[in-house]
Amino acid sequence: MTGQPQHVVVVGAGLGGIRTAEQLRAAGFQGKISLVGAEPHPPYDRPPLSKQVLTGEWAPERIVLCGKPRLDDLGIDARFGEPAVALHDGAVELADGARLTADAFVIATGVAARRLPGQPGTAHVLRTLDDTFALQNALATARSLLIVGAGFVGAEVAGAARARDITVTVLEAMPVPFTRALGPEIGAVCARLLTEGGVDLRTGARLERFTGESSVDLADGTHLTADVLLVGVGGTPELGWLAGTGIDTSDGVPCDARGRVEGRPGTWAVGDVAAWADPVRGHRHRAEHWTSATDQAAVVARDIVGADTAPLPTPYFWSDQFGLKIQLVGRPDLADTVLPLHGTALDGGPVKGTVAAYFAGEHLVAVVGFGAPRLVARYRRLVGPQATRTEVMALAAAG
Ligand SMILES: Cc1cc2nc3c(=O)[nH]c(=O)nc-3n(C[C@H](O)[C@H](O)[C@H](O)COP(=O)(O)OP(=O)(O)OC[C@H]3O[C@@H](n4cnc5c(N)ncnc54)[C@H](O)[C@@H]3O)c2cc1C
Repeated sequence: MTGQPQHVVVVGAGLGGIRTAEQLRAAGFQGKISLVGAEPHPPYDRPPLSKQVLTGEWAPERIVLCGKPRLDDLGIDARFGEPAVALHDGAVELADGARLTADAFVIATGVAARRLPGQPGTAHVLRTLDDTFALQNALATARSLLIVGAGFVGAEVAGAARARDITVTVLEAMPVPFTRALGPEIGAVCARLLTEGGVDLRTGARLERFTGESSVDLADGTHLTADVLLVGVGGTPELGWLAGTGIDTSDGVPCDARGRVEGRPGTWAVGDVAAWADPVRGHRHRAEHWTSATDQAAVVARDIVGADTAPLPTPYFWSDQFGLKIQLVGRPDLADTVLPLHGTALDGGPVKGTVAAYFAGEHLVAVVGFGAPRLVARYRRLVGPQATRTEVMALAAAG
């Protein structure tokens, strides 16, 4: 491809897809943009699904990212409810047989809720707006909820259910929840949010089998049953439609640091599905975070139009649980030490107000805060440049 493409087809009408289309226009792209989405809904925001939409605080209309009038204004040819089934050289094929020929493609198909072997069809998952409606409906009359997986979505749903006085049991295979995302010290603080919120958290729990619509047996012989069962064990990249393309889809879509798909000129990938080259670690890395999808979309749109691109900003993630906002800036996976900056949760004190720093050697690589947005903001600018431990601890000591 030389110069700007004439037609960009964006496959996946979630956050990464719509942001890419919008950013293409913002970058001055004058050509044709098609946006293809498997779901019947216009692009919507997922974080509120397990928060304000589930609790009923927000009407679903509030999470629409781009409605029809704005799609028209932007000149985006949107096709919803029609999944892509194949990517050929120079064309995307849709389930209804339509072929969209183009000279640039953006893969933004996200992840699907991962399912466990033997998982009953009646078990709830939470990935889409329709999943949220189904769960909301089930919880309306439930007295008990069993959640398999103490991930962020599971913990948020647990909090929402406890607020309605529903008895909640959460099963976690690891000894400490959130270990992979936050490490064991901070994972233990998150575990306290669950237990202090009245959740029966069973760690080290090995699921033996599902025994009915909403009951399970654990490997230690325990039988658990509840009115509603939610399985929240992460996501699997939506890649089936790329079969036959030659793209190595063993862990997402492999891309360089501008989102260009390896070995496939004219194709980019953004969001949860995309494994971008990580300049820090040197390997590829998929980030299932809202800000990553948004930041990547801006880079990809500029790269498509041939404009300069800046490196991705420092990663950021948040979760709302039991009335507290958990915020994470940076890369805890790079750290070897965690030190408290404010608050005493790491020593068993109150969780709210606690801020901790992750260091790799002498350098700051991440900051986590619990209900402390102002304090997190104070350290945020220090994470990107990897400030020294001395500088960070001096700032903490200043109050
Ligand atoms: C319940 C929930 C809560 C979350 N909370 C937070 C949070 O608090 N903080 C945070 O940072 N992140 C959160 N996230 C993660 C965040 O929403 C995602 O990282 C973000 O949506 C990723 O955007 P995406 O475009 O890659 O994928 P998505 O937004 O999932 O969009 C992908 C779209 O592609 C469509 N698609 C799939 N296959 C095809 C196909 N073959 N053809 C056409 N379309 C297809 C899908 O239907 C979907 O609409 C949450 C996610 C969920 C599910």
